[in-house]
Amino acid sequence: MAGGINGRTKICGIFGRPVEHTFSPALHNAAFAAAGLDYAYVPFEVSPGSLAAAVEAIRALGLAGVNVTIPHKEAVLPLLDGLSDEAELTGAVNTIINRSGYLYGDNTDGKGYLRALKEAGFDPADRTVLFLGAGGAARAVAVQLALAGAGKLVFANRTAARASGLSRFVAEKTGVRVELVSWPDGADDKLPEQTLAEADLVVQATSLGMSPNVNETVPLPFEVFRPGQVASDLVYNPVETLFLKKAGQAGATAVSGLGMLLHQGALAFELWTGVPAPLEVMREALVKELSNR
Ligand code: NAP
Repeated sequence: MAGGINGRTKICGIFGRPVEHTFSPALHNAAFAAAGLDYAYVPFEVSPGSLAAAVEAIRALGLAGVNVTIPHKEAVLPLLDGLSDEAELTGAVNTIINRSGYLYGDNTDGKGYLRALKEAGFDPADRTVLFLGAGGAARAVAVQLALAGAGKLVFANRTAARASGLSRFVAEKTGVRVELVSWPDGADDKLPEQTLAEADLVVQATSLGMSPNVNETVPLPFEVFRPGQVASDLVYNPVETLFLKKAGQAGATAVSGLGMLLHQGALAFELWTGVPAPLEVMREALVKELSNR
């Protein structure tokens, strides 16, 4: 924000718990300043028992909008006045827009992921996607890829029941073709070579490899990766994970989770302000924040 907070400043923020480590204030405040907008973004630590009161405060205090993060993304749905298709389909909201007291919930995680993928020149239409992991991030990305016309989604997850639950969910909601592959049992076992060879896009959606555990990664036969395949990690810290390094060395195009983080924020910025997001400023702000951690 250029001239400091004043009587006209519009306030955005994030509801979550914990919020001490969030990148969003740095991301959005840099963007507001670069766009010359009189907006400010602040973190709000909200406990589950206070979520309803916090949502009501968006109206009472006239906040322009908020992001919603762990543990409130699902619990917030019934407290809102309207939902986007993505929010309804995934059952999760990460962005609330205050339209003169009407609170609209959207989910920019999946759409942000798709923008990052397009930036890397990949169109998921009719392609085969292998998912490693079946948590909340995998769900947002899987639904979005199915909506974008992906041909087949293949899921592998350490907890098999979670992979089958997610695959059923996405198939029922979108009609996409799904398959399951077992997560390797033994310490030296790997996923089948054929499963990896047949995938056009491999989405690393587990938390393996996230700082400080940077030497961990998923059990894949990495030598099978080839040029033309895209290896996409949802983990963004570090920017280049061991998964991306090894897939890239074998010839695949590596796409960092930083792109999804950037674009989900850029989409929220655009929903609140109606102005195109200053992407390069936001990217620099994220990289700077990451280098300070
Ligand atoms: P989540 O719901 O807790 O799911 C975690 C996933 O990781 C599950 O599939 C879990 O398997 C798997 N996992 C955890 N530890 C494992 C291990 N030791 N071995 C094998 N699998 C393991 O988390 P989430 O919200 O989906 O987030 C997943 C990752 O995506 C995180 O690193 C997060 O930072 C990142 N993320 C990035 C963005 C972005 O904008 N780039 C957005 C959201 C999330 P089980 O089911 O067996 O436990």
